[in-house]
Amino acid sequence: MAIRVLSPVVAAQIAAGEVVERPASVVKELVENSIDAGARQVQIEVEQGGRRLIRVSDDGCGIPAAEVEIAFRRHSTSKLVDADDLNRIRTLGFRGEALASIASVSRVTLTTRAATEETGVLLRLEGGQVVTRRAVGRPPGTTVSVEDLFYNVPARRKFLRAEATERRHIDAWVTRYALAYPALRLVLTHDGREVLHAPGDGDVRQALLAVFGLEVGAALLEILPEAGSASPIRVSGFVGPASLHRADRGSITLFVNGRWVQDTRLTYAVIQAYHTLLPTGRYPLAVVMVDLPPEEVDVNVHPAKAEVRFRDADAVFRAVLRTVRQTVQDGGPLPQAMAGRTAWAAPGHPAGWGAPPAQAPSAFQPALLPQREETVSVLPILRVIGQVSAAYIVAEGPDGLYLVDQHAAHERVLYEQLLAQREEGAPSQRLLEPVMVELSAEAAGLVEAHLESLRRLGFELEPFGGTTFLVRAMPALLAHSLPAQVLPEVAAGLEEGRTQMDEEAERAVIRRVCKQAAVKAGQVLTRQEMEELLAALERCVSPRTCPHGRPTMIHLSVEQLARQFGREG
Ligand code: ADP
Ligand code: MG
Repeated sequence: MAIRVLSPVVAAQIAAGEVVERPASVVKELVENSIDAGARQVQIEVEQGGRRLIRVSDDGCGIPAAEVEIAFRRHSTSKLVDADDLNRIRTLGFRGEALASIASVSRVTLTTRAATEETGVLLRLEGGQVVTRRAVGRPPGTTVSVEDLFYNVPARRKFLRAEATERRHIDAWVTRYALAYPALRLVLTHDGREVLHAPGDGDVRQALLAVFGLEVGAALLEILPEAGSASPIRVSGFVGPASLHRADRGSITLFVNGRWVQDTRLTYAVIQAYHTLLPTGRYPLAVVMVDLPPEEVDVNVHPAKAEVRFRDADAVFRAVLRTVRQTVQDGGPLPQAMAGRTAWAAPGHPAGWGAPPAQAPSAFQPALLPQREETVSVLPILRVIGQVSAAYIVAEGPDGLYLVDQHAAHERVLYEQLLAQREEGAPSQRLLEPVMVELSAEAAGLVEAHLESLRRLGFELEPFGGTTFLVRAMPALLAHSLPAQVLPEVAAGLEEGRTQMDEEAERAVIRRVCKQAAVKAGQVLTRQEMEELLAALERCVSPRTCPHGRPTMIHLSVEQLARQFGREG
């Protein structure tokens, strides 16, 4: 084929790929434009996960009628004039690409009225070409409706994930803006249903409550400015107390000069700030805003503007580490996790099987165990000797000494039991009273999309308006756990499994809830409990590792013992 210059339409579609990856990127660009336009209120309407429609309306400054066509041209912006301006970007946009990119891969209707003009204007484009233009009446502000995203780019459309996944990405973005712009009234609806409503009263606490729900939102600690610091780097925001932690670093959100960014080093600074305060493998929840003079940071690194470069990255790292650490340390006593107990146990209600609800079955009730008469257990019969450090069971087998990690072992037992049970539908344990659990907007979307599949695992959940669920029953195996602790893990598992409730997602959910429900280190076990746990472990298909692949036990053979004592030879 001969070399030729691509047609403008094809060139635009290719370029659009960098900016518009999925519906959430459209939401991001449009909301950023609204914020740049000084909007106080932004309404985001989404239909069918954004495939059908994304509509963002604001009460910002509007676009003068004479400029609406230019706004849709590539590299046209009102936010930047010369190259020098790049060093002092104070707006979220500056590349002048978003509207052009979005318009080239969808059908866009813009209505806008500049505050200085009498009437508004409507402009409709299909595949980047203007098809309609006329005057309309409307209050000052701008509304952009994006319909049939990727209708003319079948390859892209094929890559769109399940509706629930695209919705989740959108929720994640809108959530970030709600946190970074507490003075912005943000309302997000999916197919007419309101999923997030940030009041925009300027109170970050209210935004946190809207995003994280009552329990978590209220527990977050505010980062206070460093007293007497002359540094131009200002760190603010909210971080969780050490008693609040998550299984991945996805709950660490960073903003630099009001822009959400991904930055592994700063994420690491936050994690470091909790060093030794959190159980291993757990991550803090944090919303950290870094503000510094615009010339100290290069925002023009990435087409989606999701990464930045700092002039003095070390100084920013140290500032984040220092302020977050200070906040967590001042934030009250260390959680009991450090002393061994579960960090999140409500007062007077230790998790694990310390104080099981009256009718809950014993965690290791033999009746619940999968029957595997035919299979030969890969573990020998073990005799309990005792417990060390309230974390390890010491046992004797025919071939030496076994040290069993009680938490990892219990995780393995629960995991295999739930996996086996889910075939016929896992037995449910009805709660004495239904319990209300409020989730984050993201988590709620995930859970709601999978209510049926969760029922097979023994969860009986009912949407209760907003992001709240009524928990009526839990899997019998988890009857000892608090719904408010299990449900977020369920959502995290679904998130891990990504798309639909397939085999993999289901396993991820089971792994999570089992980890949550398993007895923790620090819990003193009775001899009978230890015997039951080992008996259950003996029946497992893979008793030697926990569902996450860590060992459940250490074996010291008689030979090894002899060698250690110099009895050999
Ligand atoms: P950028 O935001 O990088 O400037 P965009 O393509 O997103 O580029 O937008 C182009 C221009 O259109 C903006 O510079 C701005 O002048 C105008 N514009 C876009 N959206 C809005 C809005 N919601 N309100 C007011 N002006 C807007
Ligand atoms: Mg923009």
